[in-house]
Amino acid sequence: MGETSNLIQAGYILSAVLFVLGLKGLGKPRTAVRGNALGAAGMLMAVVVTLTDNKIVSFWQLGLGLVVGALIGGALATQVQMTGMPELVALFNGFGGLASVLVVGASFLEVRELPEDPSATFTLAAAATALIGAITFSGSVVAYGKLRESFGSFGFSSLRYVNGALMVVSLALGLLMLDMPKSVALIVALVALGFLLGVSSVVPIGGADMPVVIALLNSLSGLAASATGFALGNSLLIIAGSLVGASGLILTQIMCVAMNRTLSNVLFSAAPVAVEGADADETYVGKVTSTSADEVALLLENAERVAIVPGYGMAVAQAQHAVRDLAKALEANGTEVVFGIHPVAGRMPGHMNVLLAEAEIDYEKLIEMDVINSTFAQTDMTIVIGANDVVNPVARQENSPISGMPILDVDRSQTVVIIKRSLSPGFAGIPNPLFAADNALMLFGDGKEAVMAMTKALSELSNP
Ligand code: NDP
Repeated sequence: MGETSNLIQAGYILSAVLFVLGLKGLGKPRTAVRGNALGAAGMLMAVVVTLTDNKIVSFWQLGLGLVVGALIGGALATQVQMTGMPELVALFNGFGGLASVLVVGASFLEVRELPEDPSATFTLAAAATALIGAITFSGSVVAYGKLRESFGSFGFSSLRYVNGALMVVSLALGLLMLDMPKSVALIVALVALGFLLGVSSVVPIGGADMPVVIALLNSLSGLAASATGFALGNSLLIIAGSLVGASGLILTQIMCVAMNRTLSNVLFSAAPVAVEGADADETYVGKVTSTSADEVALLLENAERVAIVPGYGMAVAQAQHAVRDLAKALEANGTEVVFGIHPVAGRMPGHMNVLLAEAEIDYEKLIEMDVINSTFAQTDMTIVIGANDVVNPVARQENSPISGMPILDVDRSQTVVIIKRSLSPGFAGIPNPLFAADNALMLFGDGKEAVMAMTKALSELSNP
């Protein structure tokens, strides 16, 4: 018996070590694949050890759950478009929170049947899981809707006080559970308040702040799992949940720094501000110059340094391979090519890095915002592909939904070519004066087709 328990503890420790090594590997693009494999191995070990350790349910029930889960997960993963990945990630966070609520709920009902009262640790952990897990679920569902652009941001300026009051009531109910540890009504009320708080906290957040929210929800899903670990007395769940919680918090902090915002500012600032003077007609009419792929190729032929700035539209167009081919053609012509990466370009943290890595573009050519910004003035041409908010100079003004968000200063290059299908706005929903700048040329069309046409025109110029 003692030996089995030692083996189980050793298995748990090994899984935890694999998780930590996996996370470390994920920190760098070159070691990310190995990191992923180590994390998966840790998870497999965790599942096997837990199955051996706890005979809570029968193996056929577990097997059935595994098959159903694998079928749904497999179908989702194979069918989802690359552009749908951020929404899928948001949903996965939410389901993580919901799973914690369900597990702790089942455990609560079991403990309730026992003659003695549960320990204070169990009660507090169950209350924390109910609240945090429910916030994670409903907040992630709202984030999913926003990422799909099903609805925008709305709220009223006193919503933050309502949220503050809901939070205080939730904490009071959690503490009350210590006196009434078997009260179903209390735990159900905590779950209901959590659902409400998740919705009311995420609904007003918009503009440039969604990346911070996505990272925070990821962290909360880990904290909910960790609290479940305390309730169940499962050390591995505590460790794995804490790792997710801590790494999510670090990512949240990185996103806040990248966006020049504080977390409290994102979460507790008033509802979205109306933008004065941000009228599309006023911004664009009579001021936009459009161009063609042939014209851009002529300019590119003599360029010494070109910067390529990708955004969400590159993901929509799946233009990353075409972009790589253009970069190669330019380099063959003696032009230096770099990529400017904004930390929140796309719809999930690291979105552009993932796409460009898929096209096997050298990591060394991906230049971070702080570094590339000082070089735009010496850049002959910047090609913006499907990016909008992250290059919008309105961020430098006050009173816009993206005020204070650092941007890629592409307008400082000699010429900026912007590839997009129309003058419609990006995620923040505001016009972009860059498109009307004197040094800007609009190349209207699908990102992939436009880049392929440019590469073709360039090669025709080089090999007439
Ligand atoms: P934006 O969403 O601001 O703009 C994308 C642009 O791509 C659109 O203006 C669209 O214009 C264009 N586009 C769409 N499809 C195509 C296509 N097939 N070919 C060419 N262009 C296309 O993207 P950015 O990357 O600049 O900014 C990201 C925004 O998303 C920021 O506001 C950020 O805060 C937010 N966000 C980021 C998250 C993250 O974690 N990274 C998470 C949540 C939100 P058109 O329709 O005219 O073609």
